[in-house]
Amino acid sequence: MTSDQFRQLWICFAEQVRAYTDTLNDLDRAIGDGDHGTNLARGLNKVRAVWPNGDLSLPDLQEMSKQVGMTLLSTVGGASGALWGSGLLKAAQALPQEDVAGDDTVILWIETLVNNIEMRGKSQVGDKTMVDVMRPAINWLMETPGCFRERLEALPALTTQWMESTKDLQAKRGRAAYLGARSIGHIDPGSFSAALWWQCLSKVVAC
Ligand code: ADP
Ligand code: MG
Repeated sequence: MTSDQFRQLWICFAEQVRAYTDTLNDLDRAIGDGDHGTNLARGLNKVRAVWPNGDLSLPDLQEMSKQVGMTLLSTVGGASGALWGSGLLKAAQALPQEDVAGDDTVILWIETLVNNIEMRGKSQVGDKTMVDVMRPAINWLMETPGCFRERLEALPALTTQWMESTKDLQAKRGRAAYLGARSIGHIDPGSFSAALWWQCLSKVVAC
């Protein structure tokens, strides 16, 4: 992955979250406080402004992950901002101070991100959170043989399935956990946005 692809990843994510802001808010309204789309869109808009269009002098990848993390931490508010933000700050250490990283390094970066989200959120698969998409996706990427691009091409369909499977779960973490059994029957908003992120990664690296 190059610095330019890294930028494209976050631009894509910002655009997707903007396009799905109402959907994400509606999902969050059902089992939370209705702000997930607005929260993420606000932060990702700021991320876009960090690297102005046509700017040819992008920082190295480690610095870019730090910049996204800091920006999301300071602008998103809500649990999702803290989890994505601090995770990206920590995961930056896995990236080189260079403008290109190999496939294994990118996988390590995402693995570190997911580890930190789980650690900070005290969450695991089955809790009905973004982890229900992030964890199976990174595990699948690490365990499946084949070329990186081909593996990534399968992820949009897989992450959509994992996201949809949060519907049947009872929330154990986050605001939705307060609803207990009433959280069953609704897709988790954070798993929806996480699936959008994987779709963007797939698109950016595959092209
Ligand atoms: P808030 O709940 O503070 O309003 P958001 O609405 O922006 O924050 O984000 C909610 C999403 O954050 C949830 O749908 C869930 O996926 C994720 N989330 C919340 N708490 C946790 C946690 N402890 N671990 C992992 N993910 C979490
Ligand atoms: Mg919310």
